[in-house]
Amino acid sequence: MALNKKCNLVDGDWVSGDGSYENSNPSDLSDPVGTYTHATPAQAEEAMSAAVRSLPSWSMVSPQLRCDILDRIGTLILQRTEELGRTLAREEGKTLPEAIGEAVRAGQIFKYFAGEALRNAGDYISSTRPGVDVEVTREPVGVCVLITPWNFPIAIPAWKMAPALAYGNTVILKPAELVPATAAALCEIAVEAGIPQGVVNMLVGKGKTVGSTLVGDERTNAVSFTGSTETGRWIAKRCGELGKKVQCEMGGKNPMVILEDADLGVAVDVSINGAFHSTGQRCTASSRLIVVDRLFDAFFSKFKERTESLVVGHALDPSTQIGPVVDQSQLEKDIGYLEIARGDGADVIGGQQLSLDTDGYYLRPAALVGTSPDARVNREEIFGPVASIIRVKDEDEALEVANATPFGLSAGVCTTSLARSRRFKRELQAGMVMVNLPTAGVDHHVPFGGTKASSIGPREQGSHARDFYTVVKTTYVA
Ligand code: ADP
Repeated sequence: MALNKKCNLVDGDWVSGDGSYENSNPSDLSDPVGTYTHATPAQAEEAMSAAVRSLPSWSMVSPQLRCDILDRIGTLILQRTEELGRTLAREEGKTLPEAIGEAVRAGQIFKYFAGEALRNAGDYISSTRPGVDVEVTREPVGVCVLITPWNFPIAIPAWKMAPALAYGNTVILKPAELVPATAAALCEIAVEAGIPQGVVNMLVGKGKTVGSTLVGDERTNAVSFTGSTETGRWIAKRCGELGKKVQCEMGGKNPMVILEDADLGVAVDVSINGAFHSTGQRCTASSRLIVVDRLFDAFFSKFKERTESLVVGHALDPSTQIGPVVDQSQLEKDIGYLEIARGDGADVIGGQQLSLDTDGYYLRPAALVGTSPDARVNREEIFGPVASIIRVKDEDEALEVANATPFGLSAGVCTTSLARSRRFKRELQAGMVMVNLPTAGVDHHVPFGGTKASSIGPREQGSHARDFYTVVKTTYVA
């Protein structure tokens, strides 16, 4: 692992690009993870040619071969979760158990889609015209460009790459600049598992250069993107202009509603987990804890106590519960939002920058109290260990505040009432609803995605992933 400069996988070869940069460890800035290079325009061109050239053979091989290779990728990942987890934790900063858990999930995703490669069934329908047969089948969409963010360095590339490959597509992965080591390790495993030359390519580079070149290339058939809303909308617009299939998973401002009949222990557990685990750097994080008046004081005092006792530290230290923020600019953004909240009259619990034994981007989790539902910190995605606690008078107001956001990724409710859980399940405007569970932390075999400004295009993961990675063909035979 740790391919360093030769980090670009182009037509089966690992090649060095231009302009090397160091990939530092956010838990310890004196520990460089590796030195990486940006793919050159010529390498991007070669990767695209390879993806186009290898498409006919990969799309036509027996699905059993695709199944076997994906299954092998899954096995190799699951055999190396410790090693992959360590690289991931050093590179991104989530704690080692979280990082190992993410690697396990990536392995399971490949195992799941290995089976899906064999289940790509179609339909036979009688025609309205006697003597005519109608068949509805699925074909690969073609060359898929996969653009991924830094916060899930192996799970997100896996949940895009596995279905793309299962249904016979070829891919070019463009991981986030901050996390090339984990992405390269995944692609190395794909090569070791027997992926034919040119079917999987990986280019390291900036979104505005390598990423946008790939999106704009006329040979790209589909773009699957996860990242910020601004970039996702730009990519969707560009794909619209060029007539490409596109899928974007973007931001969230996910509410967790605590109703008066909630089990207090459950409510505090799911709120701490949803708001602060993985340092709050999840698009499904609970950034708005909406608590009804009657339970507010009891909830707040327990939540505050738990927040203050969370152990912030080096991602590889077994006692750490909350790892560092990913980099300097995200740290400044988080701290900037704490200032904005104070300016809006909020009390900020925690939120101090910490100096620990190693020099890293450590921030104590922060709870913001006393903001109005339409304050900036309650409208804009922060993407750090920062959560607002919003007091509402009752269930109706809780629902109204929960839905008063442009985003709609995940939403949760804590209640012991069946009737209330049914109401929130129906009325929360989100692609995923969690009852008595954190808004973050989803299964790998069911659809993932949001409504409103959170998502564009078909769902990812589970059997629904097929809608994006295939196109439907209707055949009439007389
Ligand atoms: P984040 O703020 O989480 O880094 P971004 O949307 O900036 O979110 O980045 C997510 C991914 O999109 C990264 O791999 C990044 O390099 C890529 N990206 C950023 N801008 C563009 C662009 N204009 N075209 C294509 N990809 C881009």
